[in-house]
Parts: sequence; structure tokens; C-alpha cells
Amino acid sequence: MGRAFAYVILGGGVAAGYAALEFSRRGVAAGELCIISDESVAPYERPALSKGYLLPEAPARLPFFHTCVGTNDERLTPKWYKEHGIELVLGTKVTSADVRRKTLITATGETISYKILIIATGARALKLEEFGVKGSDAENVCYLRNLDDANRLVNVMQSCAGGNAVVIGGGYIGMECTAALVTNRIKVTMVFPEKHCMFRLFTPKIAEFYENYYKSKGVNFIKGTVLSSFENDSTGKVMAVILRDGTRLPTDMVVVGIGIRANTALFEGQLTLEKGGIKVNGRMQTSNSSVYAVGDVAAFPVKLFDNDIRRLEHVDSARKTARHTVAAIMAPAKTTNLDYLPFFYSRVFSLSWQFYGDNVGEVVHFGDFSSGKFGSYWVDKGRVVGAFLEGGGREDYETITKAVRNKAVVKDLGELGRKGLDFAFLE
Ligand code: FAD
Ligand code: NDP
Repeated sequence: MGRAFAYVILGGGVAAGYAALEFSRRGVAAGELCIISDESVAPYERPALSKGYLLPEAPARLPFFHTCVGTNDERLTPKWYKEHGIELVLGTKVTSADVRRKTLITATGETISYKILIIATGARALKLEEFGVKGSDAENVCYLRNLDDANRLVNVMQSCAGGNAVVIGGGYIGMECTAALVTNRIKVTMVFPEKHCMFRLFTPKIAEFYENYYKSKGVNFIKGTVLSSFENDSTGKVMAVILRDGTRLPTDMVVVGIGIRANTALFEGQLTLEKGGIKVNGRMQTSNSSVYAVGDVAAFPVKLFDNDIRRLEHVDSARKTARHTVAAIMAPAKTTNLDYLPFFYSRVFSLSWQFYGDNVGEVVHFGDFSSGKFGSYWVDKGRVVGAFLEGGGREDYETITKAVRNKAVVKDLGELGRKGLDFAFLE
């Protein structure tokens, strides 16, 4: 039993949705394109799961956040795929791939063959077990990667109203879920191994601002340590988290956000891997010319950073790499190498920040940290290579984007700090 398509997208997340829209705009014929996903719903904007989806009042629900609403584009409902002759094979896991034969085999035993494959398998959440801690299958321990996880988190959260939560990890999931839990009137203790939150991106000064803000909302921080075990009741529910130093934190629920691994397993030994992802060129083409990779799973050359290979775990990169791949496939002569400016953002409580570029070199803070509008530049070899801004307006963000994109020349770091946003506006 088998089916054959000209184009197959393996994975049905953000990148798949944006690739589908681009294929349809470029005139893919009915029956040529298929998307295979182990999720049971059509591609959606994953960022909604840690934000609007967790709101206590009027939470976001499907079908309202199917891709591509995140860029104010068309919302691709299952009906849209049908009308455009794009086959959605949902609830179906691909269990093996053979890039030489150009075939994929699903868990139900079906063989799906392709002429061109786009790998968009994203990533999976790391489990505590991978760090030697047992018990993450307890009913009140939550991870957050997909819609099933989000539904579970909502149910657990509702059953703990007025109670306590321990959040493990001080990264994106930790910060955004803590904000959501607090908004749902749950008291949170955050536990993470580093000296401050968002350690890989934030400077200590920036982190201090967010931690103080969270503290003002009642959040407790325990830094520089990790959990060592759970204490469970007779039904298996976690009652307390035990830290490495023996501290016992009684709790009603636990949320874990300790990073991800890209889903590369199907292609190990078949395609070149780098930086934990599938290595691609500037056209998102892997070491096999019929296979492309996009989104979280792709490690691609960032032109702006002298073609250094990066694997980015952010939605803007998923959207843009997906669109670029389809352009490279459908209009090869007109498509040059991707020239991508890395962009990350987050929204928590009433705060909102954006970051562009790379956080290497010397840091120069600017703005008024007490007023809530502040930021920093990263300066490397006398040029701006990265910029962070909290509380900016559209024009501010566009302006810092340009400063990073143009690698604005910095003559005097002190002056850069004094000018702050004006530096970018005067560029
Ligand atoms: P995904 O969206 O993860 O899609 C991968 C798909 O492949 C999934 O549907 C998966 O089920 C499927 N799949 C994998 N393996 C198989 C297989 N073998 N067979 C069939 N199907 C398979 N980024 C930001 O920049 N800003 C944000 O605010 C933000 N918020 C986020 C909030 C949450 C809760 C999460 C989890 C992520 C967030 N991100 C955010 C990151 C962003 O969502 C990802 O970078 C983006 O989803 C990556 O897109 P992707 O298509 O590569 O992977
Ligand atoms: P992150 O990589 O952002 O953060 C993981 C955090 O967990 C870090 O603080 C990490 O420390 C810590 N950690 C690692 N191991 C342990 C451990 N054993 N015990 C306790 N803490 C540990 O991953 P997240 O899980 O927060 O996010 C998952 C994915 O979702 C990411 O790809 C992220 O980009 C994406 N996401 C993005 C959002 C956004 O862009 N706004 C929002 C939500 C999710 P260390 O740094 O030392 O490893």
C-alpha cells in the first residue's frame, strides 16, 4: 500500500503551515503536495500555546490560531487545505525514512514516496529523566510542546486554582508559563540552575528587571540549583519537589521547561547533521539534493554572521526558512541564498521585548529601566551586532532592526549608551 506525491512536508507545525501557503501562492497543482503530521490538527501558531491559550478569560482556541495568522496572513483551516488540493495526513507518525529510495514509512505501515521532501519535524521537549530525575509521568507534572500538552496544562492548572506550582527551568517556557500561572492565581516558585533567568540571552541587568517584576507578582526564585526528586502521594501525584540541597517545596503542580532536542532521528546516518540539527545550505537544501530542512530542525548558514551555521528555535525563523525553501524549490533560478536576521521575542504579563541579531561582544545598556522602556546593544569589532528592546513601539523595533542589519559603526561605547535608541534613529 502506498501513495506518491511530488512534494511531501514531514511534520505539521509552524514551518509546514507557512510552506503550504507559499506552495499554494506559487501555484502547486492539486494532489502534488502532502503534509504528514503526528498531531491531530492542521498546522497552528505554536507560540499561542504558552500565551493566549493559557489565559483564564477568553482563551485562544483552534481554529482561530491556525497558521498563518501570526503574520496577518490567511488562516489555513482543514477546509483550506481541501480546497487547495493539499493532502493533510494527520495523526500519523513517520517511523522510518529512506532518502535514497525517497520513501517514508508511517506507523500504520503505509509507504509515502516523494520527489522532494521538506523535513519540518521541529523538536521535542527534553524530559527530566534525561537528567536522571524520575517521575515526570505523574498526572500533575506538565511539559509544553503541543496542543495535547497545552490541554493537559490547562486542566491541571484549573484543578490547582489558588494553589502552588513549581516551575523547573528559567528559559522561555519557564518565564511564559510562570506568567500564565500567576494570571491564573497560582503562586509560583521558579527553580533553575543558572545565576539568572534567560541566561543565554539576557544580561544580568536585563534579567534583574524581569525577576523584580515577577517578584512584584509574588513569584519566588530559587537559582543555582536543580531538583533531585519528587515526593508523591499514594495516587502517584507529586506533592513536593526536592532540590539537590535537600530543600523541600510542597506543591500542587509542576511545569517543566528544560530545553528541547531537534527531531533528527529519522535521518541520522543519512543526512549531514550539525549543531544538533540537519545541516542545510543557503537554499535550505540538505546533503541530499532532493531533501530540504526548515524550522527548529534545520541548521543553516546565517549570512549576516559570516555564514556561521546556526540552529534557531524561534517562530520567525520557522516561517521564513519555510517560505524560502518553497521559493528555492518552485523558482530556483530566481532564488538566492537566504539572508536571515535572527529575531526572538516574548510577551509576559504586560511586558513585551524583541531581540535582533547576535548577543556576542560588549554589551551597552540604554534607556530607563525604571520606566519599563530600555534595552541593550551588543557591539563586536566596533559594530552593532545585536539589539534588545523592552517596551518599544513598532517604529522603535524597525529602527533597531535596521541598525543590526546594517551593522552600524560604533565609535564610542559611552556615547552609544547615552544616545540609546536615538543612536539607531540617527543611523
Ligand atoms: P514545530 O512547530 O514543532 O512542528 C513540528 C511538527 O512535526 C509537529 O507537528 C510534530 O508533531 C511533527 N512531527 C515531528 N516528528 C514527526 C514524525 N516522525 N512524524 C510525523 N510528524 C512529526 N518562538 C518564538 O519566536 N516566539 C514565541 O513566542 C514562541 N513561543 C513558543 C511557545 C511554545 C509553547 C513553544 C513550544 C514554542 C514557542 N516558540 C516561540 C518556538 C516556535 O514555536 C518554534 O520555533 C516553531 O514552532 C518551530 O516550527 P517547526 O515547524 O520547525 O516545528
Ligand atoms: P530554554 O532552552 O529556553 O530554557 C531551558 C532552561 O532550563 C534553561 O534555563 C536551562 O538552563 C534550564 N535547564 C536545563 N537543564 C535543566 C535541569 N536539569 N533542571 C533545571 N533546569 C534546567 O528551553 P525551554 O524549555 O524554556 O523552551 C523550549 C523551546 O520552546 C525553545 O526552543 C524555545 O525557543 C521555545 N519557546 C520560545 C518562546 C519564545 O521565543 N518566546 C516561548 C516558549 C518556548 P541552561 O541554560 O543551563 O541549560
